[in-house]
Amino acid sequence: MVFLPQEVIAKKRDGQALSADEIAAFIHGFTHGSVSHAQAAALAMAVYFNDMTMPERVALTLAMRDSGTVLDWSDLDGPVADKHSTGGVGDNVSLMLAPILAAIGIYVPMISGRGLGHTGGTLDKFDAIPGYTTSPDNALFRQVVKDAGCAIIGQTADLAPADKALYAIRDVTGTVESISLITASILSKKLAAGLGALILDVKTGSGAFMPTLKKSRDLGQSLVTVANGAGLKTSALITDMNEPLASAAGNGLEVRNAVDFLTGKHQDARLREVTLALCAELAAMTGIAETVSAARKLVDDALDSGRAAERFARMVTALGGPADFVEHMDTHLAPAPIIRDVFAAGQGTIAAIDTKGVGMAVVALGGGRTMPSDSIDHTVGFDRLLGLGAHADAQTPIACIHAHDEASAADATDRLKSAYRLGDAAPRHDLIAARLAPTE
Ligand code: URA
Repeated sequence: MVFLPQEVIAKKRDGQALSADEIAAFIHGFTHGSVSHAQAAALAMAVYFNDMTMPERVALTLAMRDSGTVLDWSDLDGPVADKHSTGGVGDNVSLMLAPILAAIGIYVPMISGRGLGHTGGTLDKFDAIPGYTTSPDNALFRQVVKDAGCAIIGQTADLAPADKALYAIRDVTGTVESISLITASILSKKLAAGLGALILDVKTGSGAFMPTLKKSRDLGQSLVTVANGAGLKTSALITDMNEPLASAAGNGLEVRNAVDFLTGKHQDARLREVTLALCAELAAMTGIAETVSAARKLVDDALDSGRAAERFARMVTALGGPADFVEHMDTHLAPAPIIRDVFAAGQGTIAAIDTKGVGMAVVALGGGRTMPSDSIDHTVGFDRLLGLGAHADAQTPIACIHAHDEASAADATDRLKSAYRLGDAAPRHDLIAARLAPTE
């Protein structure tokens, strides 16, 4: 029967489940121009209201994966794996996770994104490193993955192009916040990257896109079920974002924090735990270790021996960054013109942090975008951020601000101070709130 897009839209509008063939025909038509943007927007809105079953989500994910190139890594002599985070503040896990895994023999071709809303983006962080290219040609990308074991780059035009076009439509039609559409969007790109295993870091709390544990679980379970349904071995950890994960937030500052972490100079405790837990889960999934606890020993050693730092340095150099970046980071990362302490209004224990507010303070400093075309300032942000339960007073700053000018420093200082609430005690949040495995 001839495929008519309006029949597919009407079926979803009326609350019926679409077949895999109908979804594939719709996405194929959308990719090749026989389904219009108006029709794609109408289907997105119908999905927003009537949702999709898990089999429909799998079909949508596979159709979007197949709208472009699917990478093939069968020439490599080890497992190929990656992580996806739903986005947070002070979340520089990728910068450590990729080289740690590379150091234990897992190849990590990591295709990352830019900052979204209040969250930072891995690509923006790498742009802080002079010379580093986040858009190498395919040959260089493959070579770096092979030689360094990991390469962190940006999305290429031929990877899941249907998602790119549909995401732009969702962005302006009020249809971003659909778990079905988010699931297919994230996973189509990961499947197109040709992975053998995937770990998801689903954030929950005041700095997450899904602030409640219930919503984070719904998204995590959808991602795990659909990814495995589409043939990609995947599990998820739901991790706490009720405070910044690293003690730094802002692109260049998070790079510094990551390099200090890799070299052992400074490691934020929560960041270490989340990073190594994600590494161990993923390593166990690839079969490189028999259990998660055996994998944990491998990844701890890869980090503590300095082998992960060496992989990071190799990746940075191979992608055009300075050969001595890890050793002489200070000579390569320019400081912001204004660097000074920020103090809370009173004294007491840090009882709550509006983590989204901290992320927006970084955006206000120029470390994020207000328009997609904006360029960003890689020098600005915060470091030495205090966490929940710490004591702040007139001698103990809540953070150190890095700003470009007095006006933005004053605005971001006000934002940060109002994001921190002092009290007598801090509530306990589980750092790893849940683990979602395929069979659940
Ligand atoms: N990230 C994506 O890649 N897609 C979404 O829909 C949301 C977040």
